[in-house]
Parts: sequence; C-alpha cells; structure tokens
Amino acid sequence: MKTRENSTRNISIIGTGLSAIFAARIIQERSDRKVILFDKARGVGGRLATRRSENGKFDHGLQYFDIESISGIPEIQELIEKEIITSISGSNRFFAPGGMTNIAKYLLQNYQINKEHKLTSISSRDKGFQISFENGKHYVCDDMILSSPIPQTLEILENSQVVISPDTLGCLKKLAYDMCLVVMVEANNKLEKKKNELGLKVGNAKISWIGDNHVKNVSDTVNFYTIHCSPEFSLDNFDKSDDKINEALDIELQSYFHEGYRILSNHKWRYSIPKSFYQLDTSLVLESDGFLGLCGDIFTNGRFDGAIQSGISIAKKYLTYDF
Ligand SMILES: Cc1cc2nc3c(=O)[nH]c(=O)nc-3n(C[C@H](O)[C@H](O)[C@H](O)COP(=O)(O)OP(=O)(O)OC[C@H]3O[C@@H](n4cnc5c(N)ncnc54)[C@H](O)[C@@H]3O)c2cc1C
Repeated sequence: MKTRENSTRNISIIGTGLSAIFAARIIQERSDRKVILFDKARGVGGRLATRRSENGKFDHGLQYFDIESISGIPEIQELIEKEIITSISGSNRFFAPGGMTNIAKYLLQNYQINKEHKLTSISSRDKGFQISFENGKHYVCDDMILSSPIPQTLEILENSQVVISPDTLGCLKKLAYDMCLVVMVEANNKLEKKKNELGLKVGNAKISWIGDNHVKNVSDTVNFYTIHCSPEFSLDNFDKSDDKINEALDIELQSYFHEGYRILSNHKWRYSIPKSFYQLDTSLVLESDGFLGLCGDIFTNGRFDGAIQSGISIAKKYLTYDF
C-alpha cells in the first residue's frame, strides 16, 4: 500500500522527448503523484522533430524506427490504432504520417507542460529541490527526472548543489553524441530510389541520409527532402553559418537534384545519436535528498525503442524508491 507521503509527492521531469514521455506516463498511470514536464523548446518531442516550411513539412530529427522490442507496450498499439504511426507493408520501418512530433503531441495531450523553460540549476530545499530556469522562474518539487542529453545534464549539475560520486561522474563525462547538420530542400526532380522507400542511405563523405517527406505523408508537397549530413562533415562544419554549410554541400546536392533545388531550412543537432553508451544500467539514480533520476537513449541503444525503455526504467525505479 502507498504511504501518504509517497502518494502526495510531486515530480518535475525535464524534457518532453520519448524517454521523458514514457517516464511521465508510467508514473501518472501507476501512482497519484503529480507530474509536471518542462522543456527548453517551444514545442514538445525533443528529437521527434517536425518543421513546417512554406507549403510543406519536414521531419528533421528521427526518420523511422523499429518497434520489435516495444510492440507489447500499450501506447505503441494505441499509436498504431489511431494511425499516428504506421509502416509500409512488408517493412518493419515505422514512421509518423503527419510528422514525428505528432507522437509526442498525442502522448502528452493530458499532461501539464511548461515550454520555453530551460533548466539551469537545482538546489536542495526541504528534502526536495528548487529548480531554476533561464527565464527567471523558480519552482519547488520533491523529485526530479532529467532526460536531457548527458552533456547538457552535466552542465546543469555543475551549476547545482548535487554531489556526484567520482566514478559516476567519470562514466557520464565519457558519454558523447554525434553532431548532425540538417538541410531541408524542395527539389525540382524526384530522388532516384526504390518506390516507397522512406529515403536513401548515402555513403557520401558529406551526406549520410536523404529522407522523403512525401512518401511518409509528412508533407503533402512532393519532393520535400531532409538531408542529414555525415557525422564527420557535421563536426567539421558545425560552427559555420548556414550559407557556408549550404555552399559546401552544393555539388553533392546537385548530383541528387540535377534539375535544381531550393534550401528552405537548416537545423543543427549538437546531440543527435549517441556514439558511446552508459553500459551499467538503462537509467541512473543519483544520490540526493529527493529522488533524482537520469534517463535517455544513451542509457540503452541510442534509438526510439531504447529511449522508451530508459524512460520506463527510471519511472519504475522512482515508483519503488525507498524514501
Ligand atoms: C538526426 C537524427 C536522426 C535520428 N535517426 C534515428 C533513426 O533513424 N532511428 C531511431 O530509432 N532513432 C533515431 N534518432 C534517435 C532518436 O531520435 C532518439 O533516440 C530519441 O528521440 C531520444 O529521445 P530522448 O528522450 O532520449 O532525448 P530527446 O528527444 O533529445 O529529449 C531531451 C529533451 O530534453 C530537453 N532539454 C534539454 N536540455 C534542457 C534543459 N536544460 N531544460 C529543459 N529541457 C531541456 C530537449 O529540448 C528535449 O526535448 C535520430 C536522432 C536524430 C537527431
């Protein structure tokens, strides 16, 4: 039976990406504890990201995903039934017609979310926390889960009154992600690829993937393509202006879009896909007065299914935590 103290606890979850979404849902479904989410961005979803531009839309983060290891999770079945996600028949590549952000919007529709709240520091307060945001706001909570990419989490913890053991800190500091520069184009010709393929894996030094937003029903307009640059090109060019990046890609883009193309938007992912992983567990609880947990795709496999598993993992630890 839940103690009164446990049932009245409240938890702040930082982030609204997949791991945060599933942490929030498990806690809310299985307890009376109050859940509130915060995100630094204007929208929800984190790397589930869709951008509108002129007369069409682009998925500019996650492109497609595998649900084999998570198909038994009720939310995944619900997303399929509601046609928020689907796959091309015969393929195990799932995607979201209408855009990846719709997954987050659907799953978070009944949650309290504070957007445009970038967490900057955490301090101890009455066996819980006071959390401070870049916009000058402060909140008090009993417990916390941070789902931000680990370098961003470490930045927050460095500004905070949280003591991390040297071993754990050493492990976390080794974790790293590839950068990914993204270019969103409207082309005058169709990309040459197999019909119905969601995109083209490219073995080019500068480009690694060209995603077709029309085939995925993300964009009504044809020939809306998302270009993911290779990790090497992204690293070398990350701090350059969009104009310089676009100029450096021109010859490659012309080879795919030989009838011409227009760049409608650019995006920079400083943390796109993990290139090293936390090997010890699928989430992490830090020692603190209240519960302070970390989750995210870097604790598993760096993908859609892994982010969900990490969110579920930290929620279960929270619900069984001995305060
Ligand atoms: C370009 C790209 C391509 C990808 N391709 C694939 C693919 O093909 N298949 C696949 O399975 N996976 C792919 N992924 C990976 C997949 O998107 C991730 O594994 C998953 O979305 C990560 O979820 P998460 O919850 O761990 O992190 P995130 O989605 O990154 O969520 C972290 C959240 O924390 C918020 N945040 C960060 N700092 C703060 C702060 N200080 N205050 C408040 N909020 C903060 C962020 O805004 C974000 O909402 C891709 C990712 C990218 C970027």
